[in-house]
Amino acid sequence: MSFEDYKGVYVFVQQVDNKISGVSFELLGKAKELAKDMDTEVTAVLLGYKVSSLYDELAKWGADKILVVDDPALEPYTTEPYAYCMNYIIKNYKPSVVLYGATAIGRDLAPRVSARVKTGLTADCTKLEVDPETKGLRMTRPAFGGNIMATILCPEHRPQMATVRPGVMQKVKPQAGRKVPVEVADVKLGAEQKNVDVVEVIKKISDKIDIQDAKILVAGGRGMGKEENFKLLKDLADVLGGEVASSRACVDAGWCEKDIQVGQTGKTVRPNLYIACGISGAIQHLAGMEESDVIVAINKDSYAPIFEVADYGIVGDALKIVPELTSKLKEALA
Ligand code: FAD
Repeated sequence: MSFEDYKGVYVFVQQVDNKISGVSFELLGKAKELAKDMDTEVTAVLLGYKVSSLYDELAKWGADKILVVDDPALEPYTTEPYAYCMNYIIKNYKPSVVLYGATAIGRDLAPRVSARVKTGLTADCTKLEVDPETKGLRMTRPAFGGNIMATILCPEHRPQMATVRPGVMQKVKPQAGRKVPVEVADVKLGAEQKNVDVVEVIKKISDKIDIQDAKILVAGGRGMGKEENFKLLKDLADVLGGEVASSRACVDAGWCEKDIQVGQTGKTVRPNLYIACGISGAIQHLAGMEESDVIVAINKDSYAPIFEVADYGIVGDALKIVPELTSKLKEALA
């Protein structure tokens, strides 16, 4: 079997309760770019039950073709039937590239698939590009605790597989009304693939907005001093209509919940405005926020690395500057 037999960029479409997860649209956007450079097409692989209502959305966000398996065994997600389908699809359709979201589902599924089809998997990529000479996929991700960026190739096996965290890639401009061919993959799921029964799904109810969806983030670091001082950040965020985020130091200290951590082991965010208060700007933190449109940094150390990525820098005590900013903004916006 030669590498020429493997064609196309495939995106595993994550859907939960028949709603496509945002990362899948981001991956379709990236896949579109890669497919252009590889002179091939983007196929969205949609697994689930009664999912035909999702076809138009996938076409709108960049899929050139949809490959679907519609089966009751695929709702809700469980590992074995999904891994079985992906294994079948890869062996029968021979994609050159397969992308997955680095979500709980993608992180569960992709390594299993890679073991079954005997290929590599590069997890948590921050950059994907096509090598102009070999047309192979160059997969870049942080390595050694984020201190270097490693570019990984998969020169001896196919497909080339990668996971990408939500928020890292950008969606393409949507094209409403686009229709693309849909093919039903002939996968037969039997009792032997259903080795887990989901008895009940208990959803966590939260009234908080996901920091990845927020347009404005006011983020605090260890320089905020203590948990109670995060109230100052909340006040500023409220005036601006934003949300509070944090560095890992504050999560480790127990001041904040993990779901608001920005960075390599937290979330990747790309808001219009990111205000970093008392955050030094360690590389692992920057990895999660440096693509923000406008970055404002408040730090009492003028040499703090956060100032290297900041558009506006304020050198001073965040505990004094943040409340002042809040009150000035309140006046201005009144
Ligand atoms: P510090 O580095 O301690 O910085 C505090 C800053 O506050 C300093 O610059 C100081 O000058 C300033 N300051 C102090 N007092 C004030 C004041 N009153 N007013 C204004 N400024 C003040 N970190 C993340 O954030 N996200 C991650 O996802 C992440 N993942 C990691 C993964 C790995 C594998 C590793 C090894 C580390 C990771 N880290 C991550 C940790 C990272 O290396 C840093 O330790 C962390 O980001 C530091 O957080 P900080 O900036 O809040 O604290």
